[in-house]
Amino acid sequence: TCIAPYIGRFAPSPTGPLHAGSLVAALASYLDARAHRGEWLVRIEDIDEGRSVPGADEAILALLHSLGMDSDREVVWQSRRKHLYAAAAAQLREHAYACGCNRREINDSRLGVAPDGSAIYPGTCRHGLAPGRSMRSLRLRVPDPGMDAISFDDRFAGSVTQYLAHDSGDFVLKRADGFWAYQIAVVVDDAEQGVTDVVRGADLIDSTARQIYLQGLLGVPTPRYLHVPVVRNANGEKLSKQTGALAVLPGDEAAAIDALTASARFLGLPLERPDSLAGFWRAAIPAWAAMLPKREAGVSTRTCS
Ligand code: GLU
Repeated sequence: TCIAPYIGRFAPSPTGPLHAGSLVAALASYLDARAHRGEWLVRIEDIDEGRSVPGADEAILALLHSLGMDSDREVVWQSRRKHLYAAAAAQLREHAYACGCNRREINDSRLGVAPDGSAIYPGTCRHGLAPGRSMRSLRLRVPDPGMDAISFDDRFAGSVTQYLAHDSGDFVLKRADGFWAYQIAVVVDDAEQGVTDVVRGADLIDSTARQIYLQGLLGVPTPRYLHVPVVRNANGEKLSKQTGALAVLPGDEAAAIDALTASARFLGLPLERPDSLAGFWRAAIPAWAAMLPKREAGVSTRTCS
């Protein structure tokens, strides 16, 4: 046997400092990569340039570094990789169409709200722009209801089935503001970086079917997925950059150990608070490996061909 290739990643959007919720995603992806003796990559998802906060990328990287988490390869920035997304969109040409609808028109169609909060597109421009309308966004046509089921085996949630027509409708590849959409950027990058395992927060599980659909159209492999529970406050609300701010300054080892230990316990690792960062990693990596379900035993040591 030999070690099967494993490439994982953490892909923060630099819309503010790393918060307690994003630390859990970072830690889970890092521990999973280390437990599989794989590589762990950091990718800055600053494709939505309107929401990126200047300096937040460097602050996130500095904090990760002070926690002991460094990308195994050079960090990439999505804002510098637009040519890759344009090339993928060109490849998807037959499946995409120009859409002239604005947000209000889509909301007014009352077709419903997708699980991620966005309005489901009613397909208005599927067969061409209405006379006098001009293109605002580029949309991807999804299969009709009845043929739109996408299933995957999530390593945490188990078997998941989502319905593209019902859950998102035809979705945006390029936005009206000219920026590439998250869905196409993430699929292109995961494929281009050879990512085998996506470990991220469960708030993104609803995007997974769209990403798997895009992978199929682009002819790239589908990675394994592990969506970890999202940290919520006492009212059950998802933490935000405002409410979940981490009180960790680079170089403050005691605070780093506290934050990591809290995140590890949230992920179900039975850890005592260690007295050094090195001690944290010495305990956390085997604890994560021990927690991997039996059915995953084949993931870490596979016979290589
Ligand atoms: N950039 C996304 C976020 O910060 C994560 C995307 C992903 O892991 O696929 O929420």
